[in-house]
Amino acid sequence: MSKLVAFAAIQGAYNMVSKVEGRYKRVLAANSADTKVEFPNTAYYLPVIYSLTGIKVQTLEDFKKPLDICRKLLPPHVKRVNHLPYLGPLLDAGMAALFASELEEALRILEDPNFYVLGSEEIDDANNRIWLGPADDTVFRKRGVEFVDGSAPGFAAIVGAAPTIEIAKDIVEDYQRKNLYIFLAANQNGTTVAEQLIEAGVQIGWNTRIVPFGPDISSAVFALGFANRAAMAFGGVQAGDYRKLLLYNKERIFAFVNALGDVNAEWAAAAAGCVNWGFPTISDTDIPEILPTGICTYEHVVANVPHDQIVEKSIETRGLKVTISEIDIPLSYGPAFEGERVRKDDLYCQFGAKQQCTELVNMAEMNEIEDGKVIVVGPDIADMKPGTTSPLGIFVQVAGREFQQDFEPIIERQIHHLTNYIQGVMHIGQRDIAWVRVSKQAVEKGFSLKHIGVVLHAKFHQDFTKIIDKVQVTFYTKKEDVDKLTEKARAEYRTRDERVENMTDEGVETFYSCTLCQSFAPSHVCTVSPERTGLCGAYNWMDCKASFEINPTGPNQPIEKGECLDTKLGQWKGVNEFVYKASRGNISHYNFYSLMIDPMTTCGCCEAIAAVLPMCNGIMTVNRDYTGDTPCGMKFTTLAGQMGGGASSPGFVGHSKYNVTQRKFVAGDGGIHRLVWMPKIFKEEIKERLIKRGEEIGIPNFYDMIADETVGTTEEEVYEFLQKVGHPAVSMDPITG
Ligand code: SF4
Ligand code: ZN
Repeated sequence: MSKLVAFAAIQGAYNMVSKVEGRYKRVLAANSADTKVEFPNTAYYLPVIYSLTGIKVQTLEDFKKPLDICRKLLPPHVKRVNHLPYLGPLLDAGMAALFASELEEALRILEDPNFYVLGSEEIDDANNRIWLGPADDTVFRKRGVEFVDGSAPGFAAIVGAAPTIEIAKDIVEDYQRKNLYIFLAANQNGTTVAEQLIEAGVQIGWNTRIVPFGPDISSAVFALGFANRAAMAFGGVQAGDYRKLLLYNKERIFAFVNALGDVNAEWAAAAAGCVNWGFPTISDTDIPEILPTGICTYEHVVANVPHDQIVEKSIETRGLKVTISEIDIPLSYGPAFEGERVRKDDLYCQFGAKQQCTELVNMAEMNEIEDGKVIVVGPDIADMKPGTTSPLGIFVQVAGREFQQDFEPIIERQIHHLTNYIQGVMHIGQRDIAWVRVSKQAVEKGFSLKHIGVVLHAKFHQDFTKIIDKVQVTFYTKKEDVDKLTEKARAEYRTRDERVENMTDEGVETFYSCTLCQSFAPSHVCTVSPERTGLCGAYNWMDCKASFEINPTGPNQPIEKGECLDTKLGQWKGVNEFVYKASRGNISHYNFYSLMIDPMTTCGCCEAIAAVLPMCNGIMTVNRDYTGDTPCGMKFTTLAGQMGGGASSPGFVGHSKYNVTQRKFVAGDGGIHRLVWMPKIFKEEIKERLIKRGEEIGIPNFYDMIADETVGTTEEEVYEFLQKVGHPAVSMDPITG
């Protein structure tokens, strides 16, 4: 234990406390004491102060108590040469520095409300506003839970700047590959890692797990506020129970600080503060170390670590276990890249969009395929000009002694997130409406379609060891081949869909949950019943049942439906209880058969969205592949953007294409009789089944009564048409919520 570092840290804490006292005086002179002060949109006040002391700072007046505590925490200056006894006062000084930081940041937000891009997951690059400030509760809930459910092992708080842009990028991407969040704060002589990353072309924001908090050391407190809110919200720790709170962090949140550049007194104070949480500091410069262990799991401060070792050393010091699956592709790979987008300016080429893109998984005989073989039939990415939109067929064959044909859809549905995990590659959709975007950076690094095959081969083996022995993947990029695969695939989708054709919701006691989409839509839970296929179209009741057999602790769990609370709208007690838990208390109930009253939640990958058309006394539905206008005034993309985050939005509901002709489709609102408009391609795709349903409901020409865009895309035009053809919706009871 060094006297020097203790001296610096205590000095730093004095500086920070005096500074905020001064600012407070100035602000108080210009404003009344009851002026509101807050981190916007959070129920946790100033979270570090609130969580540790129970004090709710809401006005300038409320500053007095915590300022008082800061003063009391400041220890006497270090005078004598001494050994270990410094740790106690040092920790107190650090805590005072952090309280002061939080108060300082609150005053900043009061005086300069536009300094941070508040309430957003993304930076406002266009206006040069790159600092996100404290996360509001929406962002916090979505992201904080990942620290609890294990999808993010922890965070690296990086303060300062690296000596070069390349070093900054290397360190951060290494953490990203290990699925850690990277919180950025403070500057080194005016340079920050955040700016270095932007210059290097790295996407920063919550969606890539690289979070630029602020340019000053005081903004590092946002990282601690985030950790403490997680302990309260997900760990059940009460505000004011500081002992439990700090222990929770030490044991559960794997975090540490990397100090890049010269460590001044204020940084030393903040670092000392972090030791209270059990978060050690690992720096690249020569600062006095605090090696003995005690509070942190291992050492407290480790100095002089070379840049190419800092990631490893940090992880070792914090005692973190990360598992990285070695997947041999030229790009980084892992869940951290799932939310990353490939924007127009970054796009090299894409598959799907206005071209056909189809995925199919088929079971094969063991001797029919060669494990690990990846074939590209037609031009690969290297043969494509920038800006190309190409058709694509992804045909995966799997074999295994325990494999059953029923498992095909489950394996197929994995293609989406497994491809999305590739850095610089984006995957949307499923089945015959998939869409893959490849970035310029990925192509520069030598990315080829083959690498998607490498990923699928490796991950299918890892995740489905029990049932899969061999995987072979073929890519088709020539139109005629893709069309052939698509035709085959559609016939198989139909067969899969029809496996539930004659089943009813009343006929089974068990439904299945699907929470596969929670990484994008955290409160979203699909409940899949025989008569309500998952809204992505990829999972029906049979598929969920098979998925549960393969993986009993996986995303598809049986739900005892229990007492029926509403037969018409489709609501069950057992389902409500399950959904409440699985949505972490966000959704208490929903109806299976209604879009007007508490409909099921919708995530971004639904095949179609139904919307009420009040004037027509009916509903419309629009599929993802239709890009034109619709009579509800919104295109599919707008609708999906508005409700795809896992909300239940009365008047709208996401559903699968197949679901339109399932007998319980919006039965609570009057059923298919209400369907007045849908795009022509959608109508034609399910023509056969629509005609059959028409006959079933005693209106043999019902198919022709449904308007499409050739009739019109306004409610007026549609209504006129409905009257002309005598559509049943016109004379039904008013559609109400
Ligand atoms: Fe599962 Fe629903 Fe997502 Fe489909 S949309 S993968 S059923 S959660
Ligand atoms: Zn989804």
